Amino acid sequence: MIRSALVRLVQRPGLLGALLFVATMGLAAALAWQAARSAASHRSAAEASLTHHATIAAWRFSREGRSWLGYGMSQAGDLLLQEVSLVEALPGPEVLRRLLAEKECDCMSAGFSRTVFLVVNEPDPKLVEMGEPLSETGRRALLAAAVAAAADTAVRQGPRQWRMLPPGEPRLKRSTDVVLLWKVGDPKRGVRGVYGMVVEPAQIERPLKGALGDAQFFPSSLIPQRTADSLVRIEVAGPNGQPLFEAGPDTRSFLGTDTLGIAFGNLVVTAAIDPAAARMLISGGLPTSRAPTIVALFALTLAMGGTALLLLRREHRLARLREDFVSGVSHELRTPLTQIRILSELLQSDGFRTEAEKERATGVIHREALRLTNLVDNVLEFARLRRPAKVGPPAPVALAEVAHELADSFAPLLDAQENRVDLVITDDLEIPGDRDAISRVLRNLVENAVKYGPRGQTIRMMIARSDPPGAARVTVDDAGPGIPREERTRIWQPYYRLDRDRNAPAGGSGLGLSVVADLMRLLGGRAWVEDVPGGGGGARFTAEFPGAQPRSGQGQ
Ligand code: ADP
Repeated sequence: MIRSALVRLVQRPGLLGALLFVATMGLAAALAWQAARSAASHRSAAEASLTHHATIAAWRFSREGRSWLGYGMSQAGDLLLQEVSLVEALPGPEVLRRLLAEKECDCMSAGFSRTVFLVVNEPDPKLVEMGEPLSETGRRALLAAAVAAAADTAVRQGPRQWRMLPPGEPRLKRSTDVVLLWKVGDPKRGVRGVYGMVVEPAQIERPLKGALGDAQFFPSSLIPQRTADSLVRIEVAGPNGQPLFEAGPDTRSFLGTDTLGIAFGNLVVTAAIDPAAARMLISGGLPTSRAPTIVALFALTLAMGGTALLLLRREHRLARLREDFVSGVSHELRTPLTQIRILSELLQSDGFRTEAEKERATGVIHREALRLTNLVDNVLEFARLRRPAKVGPPAPVALAEVAHELADSFAPLLDAQENRVDLVITDDLEIPGDRDAISRVLRNLVENAVKYGPRGQTIRMMIARSDPPGAARVTVDDAGPGIPREERTRIWQPYYRLDRDRNAPAGGSGLGLSVVADLMRLLGGRAWVEDVPGGGGGARFTAEFPGAQPRSGQGQ
């Protein structure tokens, strides 16, 4: 079963070729898909690794940021505690400004604060402010925030002594303003009050810059610290996205985030890594997209496979045409040879009764011999033209002369078919060329007219100048079935015969017109076929030769 299917497949090379082509393309597509997938996964792994580096960078900055901000807040808190521990009544909020300015502490907002305030922790707490006045809602919100901070009764325990409120919380006049709160008190009396300060983001820039200088974003074996600063962008923003601080190159790729935590107002740190860092962080750098290469290679495979398939098909067609050629030529040889053999035997054995019969037999022998010669000539000419041979050197050839000679030499064939040749010489022209080649062109056209035209037809052969002048046109019209429009280019190919004539008793080699086409090319002219004008059917073959002159000594 499988064997017979295989045998059938091998016997049909076209189908086998198509199957192989489809299989090759399938394979190429699968490989391309595989390559594209592995390139994509390589790239996404590299991108994930860079994003990971960004997250680590954000985390490292947050750690330093907490330490710097916390240090500033603690220092300010300690100063306040010292100041108030000795006095019975809490001093007004201006003490905060004075302390920070006097001590030149490296802490928060040494420069500028919009408003400082104090909320004394008593049953009906009030907010006392100094500096830029607060709106009523702002005041109420700050009071509530201070009361909430005081609710955590611990005073001297690190960050619980103070806290930062994120921008926009509570809602003040400017959405980016940050509120800093310090609790004062002691274990005995508990929280005595809360001092606070409203500052603009620039006031917390100093510790963040300090953190930037200290944070080591990448292992120094991969990227030295100096270089790292130019490759990492850091942004600090409020939890609602209000920007507070930014530093580093202008890049938005490979983002990682971290938060500073509740004591620092939940400020969000975003780190972005410049793609230039990819080469240092990932061996081989970020893989470039392979899609164009893969598509190009696939297209190339497709084109090569397609070409191979076309060549296979051509080869297949040529093989079929050659088979037709052999059977056509055999037929073409056998019929006249049989006739010649029988008639010559009869002649030898004196088998004819009358002289007229004898004469007719010699005529047939002559005619068939002529046909054979023509066939053999065509085959030889075809073989000769396949080699890089040339037509003979050009010499002036009178077309009318060639046409007359041809009509004479065809007389036996024409008589046998009861055909007539009507020669119409509109212009008596000479063309430069090889006489034998020109004669063969016309001979093949006339022979086809006889072969494919009906008995009793008149073949019209015309010689005229072509329009535009400078060329001579020889047309051969017959009254046969003509050539279908879609076959008019193919009939000039070697071995090609119309389907309707493939099994015709006339036989044929399929070489005649290909010899015509080749010779016309070598002579610098061209040949084509059309219908005989007038709609009465028949084929008109035209050969157009360049360099036509009026025949010398004949005038026009
Ligand atoms: P062949 O030896 O078969 O005549 P050609 O190359 O001369 O080979 O012609 C190719 C094919 O073109 C022929 O087989 C025939 O089918 C077709 N053909 C050529 N000349 C004519 C014609 N005058 N009328 C009709 N068909 C023609």
